[in-house]
Amino acid sequence: MAKATEKAAPKGTRSAEETEQIRVALVERRDELQEEYDRSLSEITALQRERLEDSAGDDQADTGTKTFEREQEITLAHNLLERITQVERALERLGEGNYGWCERCGNAIPVERLAAFPVATLCVSCKQLEERR
Ligand SMILES: [Zn+2]
Repeated sequence: MAKATEKAAPKGTRSAEETEQIRVALVERRDELQEEYDRSLSEITALQRERLEDSAGDDQADTGTKTFEREQEITLAHNLLERITQVERALERLGEGNYGWCERCGNAIPVERLAAFPVATLCVSCKQLEERR
């Protein structure tokens, strides 16, 4: 039984070499994000410690700034974690052969585009068409 889908079927296949290229790009991207995430976490810990250490003698404004900084860092860390998850999902889909194809026309999305935007689901020309609508 044919499964109804509005997504365009992939056109052609990718060479193993190309798949590997995408995989490497994604893994690199994930490592970068992971590093940033770790840095962000230690920043949060540092800010937290700082706040605990001198909250006794701090004036209100100072405490406010530090709380704000910490919240900023937490938001950043959260965003990074989300992006890491997206890249990991992309890697899973790549393993299943479902990653890197334009959802609209079924053409292969260029490796460079995928490396820059791991969540890209459209090729450049379809993306432009979409934006023009
Ligand atoms: Zn397309």
